[in-house]
Amino acid sequence: MKITKLPQFTPEAAEFWATIPAEIKTQLLANVFCSHCNDVVKIVDYKAAMSGTNLVLNGCCAVCGNEVVRVIEGA
Ligand SMILES: [Zn+2]
Repeated sequence: MKITKLPQFTPEAAEFWATIPAEIKTQLLANVFCSHCNDVVKIVDYKAAMSGTNLVLNGCCAVCGNEVVRVIEGA
C-alpha cells in the first residue's frame, strides 16, 4: 500500500487516511458541521491525528474560518 506523505498528518493518521476511498474522503471533507455558520461546510487547512481507533481532523471552516473538527470512526 502506497502512503502519501502528508505533513499535517501523523504517520498513523496518514495510514488510516490512505485506506479511505478518494470519493469518500471528498465527501468527508465537504460535510463538516460548523457551529458558527450553523451549517454543513467544507473543512480546510486541516491536520489529522489518531484518537484511539478514530481519525480526528482539526481544521477551519471554508466559509468563516471557525475551528471545526471531524471525527472519522475507525473499525
Ligand atoms: Zn463556518
